[in-house]
Amino acid sequence: MSSSDGRDGENPVCCSSIGFDSGVFAGDRVAIEPGRSCGICARCREGRYNLCPDMKFAASLLQGPNDGTLREWVTYPAGLCHKIPESMTYEEGAMMEPLAVAVHSVRRTQLSAGNKVIVMGAGPIGLLVAAVSRAQGATSITLLDINRSRLDFARSYLAPFPLRTILLTPKPRTSTEDNLDFSQHTVAELGLDEVDVVFECTGAETCVQMSILLARRGGCVMMIGMGAKTQVLPVDVIGTREVDIKGNFRYANAHPSAIALVETGMVSTKELISHRFQLSESIQALELLASGAEGVIKVAIGDF
Ligand SMILES: [Zn+2]
Repeated sequence: MSSSDGRDGENPVCCSSIGFDSGVFAGDRVAIEPGRSCGICARCREGRYNLCPDMKFAASLLQGPNDGTLREWVTYPAGLCHKIPESMTYEEGAMMEPLAVAVHSVRRTQLSAGNKVIVMGAGPIGLLVAAVSRAQGATSITLLDINRSRLDFARSYLAPFPLRTILLTPKPRTSTEDNLDFSQHTVAELGLDEVDVVFECTGAETCVQMSILLARRGGCVMMIGMGAKTQVLPVDVIGTREVDIKGNFRYANAHPSAIALVETGMVSTKELISHRFQLSESIQALELLASGAEGVIKVAIGDF
């Protein structure tokens, strides 16, 4: 439906829980935010609704179980629906959720044009963080991973940007060296310059340690990966270099920027979808994802 076929004068769907007009009309193509916050707590009111203690996130067991979206129809608050442009496919629309994570995390680092960036981990979030960093004007991006094929893909994904990739060697299981000693030795061997912002997208203790060691004085480490709850960190480095360690949980107010990045060609997401399944094949899709098979990046489910 468009304004030329009678939309003018129509009322947009109202987002009653938050109290503003959503600007969404029946028939619009949208990408949804799959988390429903309460809308009234202090965190919601200050705009950080991703931190709402009553958040109900689709398919999450937290404050749940909460129904997911693997079904033909879903009722959703209009305020969590974001119109996507005609140039965007539904498949790309589905990718606005992980892209929003990248937008939110990059935003929280206050990364600016000319910054040097390191990304630990070349999974979907690491790739998107690198892409958003490039869009924000980062002039040097180095991506580290233990998987060569992921690094190969990353270079082609961000081409012609001169992405630097480094294949990391995991710590041998037979090693009796402390993780922190191993991380310090690895950083020394790599000989990398310290950078303005490090995005840690693995959660692995050695990668978290290396992230801190690779941040410049006054730099920032953005913790995105979810790893072991207890980890040894070089707190002397954090303190004496004033390295800002920041957490990241999903996103808030990031979907409009994510959509704009794709609409304007600043970031592309469609290359990240490595496999596609129909809704009726959802179990196979989840099994493939869980297998961690080579070449699996993002798995799309739907009748696109
Ligand atoms: Zn709330």
